[in-house]
Amino acid sequence: MAEYDVIVIGSGAGGLTAAVALAQAGKKVLVLEQHDRPGGWTHSFTLNGYRFSPGVHYIGDLQEGGGLRGIYDGLGVSGDLIFCELNPDGYDHITIGEKRVDFPKGRENLVDTLKRHFPHESRGIDSYFADMQAMVDGLSRLGDVSSPLNILKAAAGATGALKWIRATGKDLLDAHLSDPVLRGVLSGQAGDHGLPPSQASAFMQAGITSHYLNGGYYPLGGAFTLPRAFIRALKRAGGEIRLKSRVKRILLERKKVLGVELESGEEVRAVVVISNADPEVTFGHLIGRDLLSARLRRKLNSVKYSTSCLSLFFATDMDLRAGGLDSGNYWFYEHSDVDRIYTDGLSDALLHDKTPSGMFLTVTTLKDPSKMHSGHHTCESFAFVGYEGFEKWAHTTYAHRWSHLPRRACRIRHGGHHSGYRRVRQVPAHPGPTGGGQDHPSARGRTDTGGNEARHSCGYIQ
Ligand SMILES: Cc1cc2nc3c(=O)[nH]c(=O)nc-3n(C[C@H](O)[C@H](O)[C@H](O)COP(=O)(O)OP(=O)(O)OC[C@H]3O[C@@H](n4cnc5c(N)ncnc54)[C@H](O)[C@@H]3O)c2cc1C
Repeated sequence: MAEYDVIVIGSGAGGLTAAVALAQAGKKVLVLEQHDRPGGWTHSFTLNGYRFSPGVHYIGDLQEGGGLRGIYDGLGVSGDLIFCELNPDGYDHITIGEKRVDFPKGRENLVDTLKRHFPHESRGIDSYFADMQAMVDGLSRLGDVSSPLNILKAAAGATGALKWIRATGKDLLDAHLSDPVLRGVLSGQAGDHGLPPSQASAFMQAGITSHYLNGGYYPLGGAFTLPRAFIRALKRAGGEIRLKSRVKRILLERKKVLGVELESGEEVRAVVVISNADPEVTFGHLIGRDLLSARLRRKLNSVKYSTSCLSLFFATDMDLRAGGLDSGNYWFYEHSDVDRIYTDGLSDALLHDKTPSGMFLTVTTLKDPSKMHSGHHTCESFAFVGYEGFEKWAHTTYAHRWSHLPRRACRIRHGGHHSGYRRVRQVPAHPGPTGGGQDHPSARGRTDTGGNEARHSCGYIQ
């Protein structure tokens, strides 16, 4: 007999969203997480007192009526979340060679900014944003399945967007714009989805730009406050979570799921199993290729991972504000062929280059000054590199890899990868599943952390 209605494998943003929704719908839910802390890419870790959150640098769509805000409000987690707004005059700063364009909050402001930088592309900018809006509206209407009439209406309303259904992000950009630098600027957020625009769907390109049009927000205290809010909601609804519980196998009888087997050998029974792990882990490992239909096996074999990152987490006593940095994110591209930079990012090219041709930098303490430690800023920086460059060390363990790594990687570890940053206190790389301390920031309740931009503010989303 099943102990649970639903087991969710993994406590990432996706797994916890499903778990909270199902628990609130009256299901008996158990979340099983392999890590010693919840959240997947939304977890935070602390090293030497400095807190880092590798997988959340800004969140959009939190305005009144925004889709993500609707999810947070609907699941009842908003009351446990406080967000700090990134610089409204530039939540993203995109630099292509010598040209820098700041993305301001508000669609009209962004359109005006782009036209000011690229006046000869004025018509193309208008038509690009019009198509982008039609695509995003079409997609969101398709989500309304509340009545057969709404489904019909949604299908009719989505026809304008359908012409892009098989197009790539690059197709969308090329159809409207001809200036290579402007195309590069509008490709500059590709790191948010991890593919070159020529390999990403046009809807992904449009969706990412659109997601941040109403500004970027950072969770006060760090990204881990997101899973913390979800887990509180899960427990309020009677759900459970177990950490350090890696699922080894999804138990099946013919095609019927019975539950899961943990690495410890324990079996837990459930009527439904939802996997938040990626397709290779779920179908390739937890179920096993031999149990898949030929069609699913072919599909799984054709799945490729998007770009990965070399991540640098560091702290500095420099006055970064005086140095010209603010709470916006910084994207640096050496040249306007941003597509090629991300295509290189799918391989091990970075390990052979002298300097990264594409990079992301963010100062988390300029977004959320409550995270300052000993008066120092914390910064997170990423350069794009594919998994293949590191594949040969897949079977080595954390803290035992340095002697095997290429010399360039070691230089990054010991020397920093941006000569402009003197007086940088480097923190060892990401601690992996068992390293680092858990975070317990004191910041709760309505707070104004006194950010430095004139309009920088933190508050509940309500
Ligand atoms: C470097 C980087 C920066 C990013 N920046 C942003 C940003 O600024 N804004 C933004 O909105 N998004 C950002 N993202 C994306 C965002 O963080 C992720 O898309 C999102 O968190 C993924 O959530 P998920 O639930 O799909 O998966 P994951 O977070 O990957 O969760 C999967 C979970 O499943 C667990 N799991 C896997 N296998 C097992 C098993 N066998 N047993 C038990 N548990 C298991 C894992 O431990 C993990 O906790 C960034 C991502 C990266 C990598």
